[in-house]
Amino acid sequence: REDGKILSMSNTAKEIMASLGSVSKDGEYSDNVLPDAFKTMLSNCHCCPTALKKTCHGETTVETDDGARHFEYSATPSLIASDDSSQQEEDVRITTLLFQDVTKAREQQKKNAYLAIHDPGTGLLNKNGFLEQAETIMMENIDDSYLVFACKLTRFNRVNESLGHEYGNLLLKQVGERFHKMNMFKLVGRSSLDEFMLFRRIEDDSDIIHCAEQIRAILETTFVLRGHSALIGVHVGVASDIAGELADEITEAAFVALYRSKEENSKYCVYSPKMAMDVLRRRTLEEELIDALDRDEFELHYQPQVELKSGRIIGCEALIRWQHRDLGFIQPDLFIPILEETGKIVELGRWILNTACADAKTWPDHIKVAVNISAVQFERSNVLEDIKIALLANTLSPDRLHMEITESLFITEAEDIISMLQDIRAAGINIALDDFGTGYSSLGYIHQFPLDKIKIDQAFVRDLPDSRESLAVIGAIAALARGLNMDVVAEGVEEATQVDMLINSGCRIGQGWLFGKPMNAANFTRFIDEAATPLAKAIA
Ligand code: C2E
Ligand code: MG
Ligand code: MG
Repeated sequence: REDGKILSMSNTAKEIMASLGSVSKDGEYSDNVLPDAFKTMLSNCHCCPTALKKTCHGETTVETDDGARHFEYSATPSLIASDDSSQQEEDVRITTLLFQDVTKAREQQKKNAYLAIHDPGTGLLNKNGFLEQAETIMMENIDDSYLVFACKLTRFNRVNESLGHEYGNLLLKQVGERFHKMNMFKLVGRSSLDEFMLFRRIEDDSDIIHCAEQIRAILETTFVLRGHSALIGVHVGVASDIAGELADEITEAAFVALYRSKEENSKYCVYSPKMAMDVLRRRTLEEELIDALDRDEFELHYQPQVELKSGRIIGCEALIRWQHRDLGFIQPDLFIPILEETGKIVELGRWILNTACADAKTWPDHIKVAVNISAVQFERSNVLEDIKIALLANTLSPDRLHMEITESLFITEAEDIISMLQDIRAAGINIALDDFGTGYSSLGYIHQFPLDKIKIDQAFVRDLPDSRESLAVIGAIAALARGLNMDVVAEGVEEATQVDMLINSGCRIGQGWLFGKPMNAANFTRFIDEAATPLAKAIA
């Protein structure tokens, strides 16, 4: 009532009042019993006595010992007409107060707002929060220039795998704390598992180098995770807004530089516009590769392999070709690494095996076909199973199929690889080690692997006949192969003058433009048909 007397209260209202520490009952005066915030709600309404039908809405907060409580309310003034027909009693002016406890909803909203811009694991800004706040700072200080550092931890997975995820999370938290402690960055954010972003105003020309080195130094110092020591490293990419870029553009550029730094294994890398072109090209290829197989854009070509002394064709190597409908011919060196990274090499690998077997079936029995198998295929599929399916589907004898692998296969899990290769060999497939001499070429391991052939990389053959050093390397590889009872193939033979030198060095087989460039199946079929007298001519 206008004079403050409470005419009636619902039970829930009484319960809420009780929870706020006030004992309220009907007939009491609100000034005596209601918390201050509620009195204000009512007085807000009483202060507009003329607007009788106007409802006031609002939200109020009551501080309690357990924290703040939030209420939404509406207060509606009205008149209760007097039922005294003599008109001696006046109409009564009252206010109806409706209110609702919205504490939980407000807390949830606050939490959601926090989570929208923070990473819950480390408490750092997430990418959205980082970009939003960086943009705000940049807009407010348009005369300043800023740097974004994108950082990716190395060896983080090792900690995660050896000590467990709990320790991995602890490490990430400590990384965030170290970044904050450096006191060099206005913003610190985490963009994905082990990737972080740092934002800083440019102070002077040496900032980039100085900061990048500090970042490395701080992260390369041993971490102690509940008594366990962990050593990690970091790759760093940097970009600045000197051309007026927005926060998301510099951050994107910093990540482009970061990936370049990873590829080059450099300490840090500063963004340059050329990198963006490379990324764009790569993205385009990645997108175009998604259904290149369905669009029938791949073709297998075959390059002859010949016995050097007799000039006889003994086989060929299958080489993938991608003829894109708009971009034209795209080299395998450009797209095979992308297929490997996305895992699509498995699907294409099966198509290659099947096509090579189908084509080989149409050639004479003495022509073997060698198929390149990437390390990722071993990791992500059962290569022996795929080989068996391709042989069976084309009723090709296993001795017609050879397999080329590279040393990158030997880096991990040597035991597993050895047994997989043994099984493949036991199934009758001949195994060649490709590009030998350019990779790790550790003499310590080569005898452990079940290999039939070593292919000497074209880098050495290319230098013949002039380079004595290359000749010495070729001779040494051939001697090693002989000692291990393996065959030797020289790759990239382009000139007739190289042939004698290769024979004298102990190479039995040759492959290269001198004998034939890679050609499609129809042309290779014709090539072997016409090969009664070919090499004598070519070498002459
Ligand atoms: P690779 O297996 O070492 O293949 C030999 C490369 O040398 C081929 O390049 C071939 O065209 C080229 N070549 C052959 N003779 C000569 C020569 O006399 N002079 C010169 N300059 N080059 C010669 P290509 O076809 O561009 O393939 C490059 C690499 O891509 C291959 O190296 C192989 O690692 C990969 N690759 C090609 N096809 C496949 C495939 O079907 N599967 C997989 N996993 N990788 C493939
Ligand atoms: Mg090869
Ligand atoms: Mg090779």
